[in-house]
Amino acid sequence: MKENELRSELVRIANKLDAQGLNRGTSGNLSVRYGEGLLITPSGMGAEGLTKDDIVWVNFDGTTRGRWQPSSEWLFHRDIFVQRPEFGAIIHTHCIAATALACLRKDIPPFHYMIALLGGDSIRCADYATFGTQDLSDNALLALRGRKACLLANHGMIAAGEDLAEAFKIAVEVETLSELYLRTLQAGQPVLLSAQQFQDAQSRFAGYGKAAESKETGAE
Ligand SMILES: [Zn+2]
Repeated sequence: MKENELRSELVRIANKLDAQGLNRGTSGNLSVRYGEGLLITPSGMGAEGLTKDDIVWVNFDGTTRGRWQPSSEWLFHRDIFVQRPEFGAIIHTHCIAATALACLRKDIPPFHYMIALLGGDSIRCADYATFGTQDLSDNALLALRGRKACLLANHGMIAAGEDLAEAFKIAVEVETLSELYLRTLQAGQPVLLSAQQFQDAQSRFAGYGKAAESKETGAE
């Protein structure tokens, strides 16, 4: 995609996050990989009234181009893109259920098979660090090892994907699973899936993806 299209896509997804209740006010931020850097939403601005010209470009070396300052969380966006080449887009929000669990500093265990979609048998909660710091970035990268999402203690969550569409899908999944886990905890202690049960779900997801791909290839 061209830079202008990516800027428009960031604005569109920022509004979609608001519309679906996954983000509120000016707290969240999102980015896409572009060239030797990233395009990211500006600091202190919400989705309302946001235009593609408000989006800021940040070089991997930290220099910026744009009319505003980049989001105060640009550091972990940059570090994730540098260290995880498979990701092309990152969404960070303080969505309610995921953030509630993050305030308990709880990992989300394999209580539901959909956890497998996020790359591992849990959603880890990164250790607490002040927002915008290198420590927070380091902690987030640790929690994201082998995963597409993590919680940030007393802060929020991060969801990543190969593009904005996937990152959005992952963000929805994190919030849905968080809500389910919170409700389950209110009712009692969840029965966790065994390692075997979880593996079976993982291989079914893997097989499902392959079947869909080969079907597409066959149709061409
Ligand atoms: Zn935040």
